[in-house]
Amino acid sequence: MANHKLAGAVGDANFYEFRRQLEYKSKMYGSSVMVVDRFFPSTKKCSKCGYKQDMPLKERTFNCGGCGLSINRDLNAALNLEHQAYPS
Ligand SMILES: [Zn+2]
Repeated sequence: MANHKLAGAVGDANFYEFRRQLEYKSKMYGSSVMVVDRFFPSTKKCSKCGYKQDMPLKERTFNCGGCGLSINRDLNAALNLEHQAYPS
């Protein structure tokens, strides 16, 4: 939602209802939902070394300026969220 280009389209999706359903269903199946801060830089942060850099939407691969890691943008973001939820 912080990205103004996406905010209009995504705003219609009704995140409140989505989250409500997600929490309801998770409880029903004995799972849990973890929520990270909305400004957590999951796409801008290297999942290996923590280096942060700008990531325009068209960039599909995260090429780290810190350690040289080259990884799919969405996989990198998912790993960052996993590390946030389950710190080692
Ligand atoms: Zn890195």
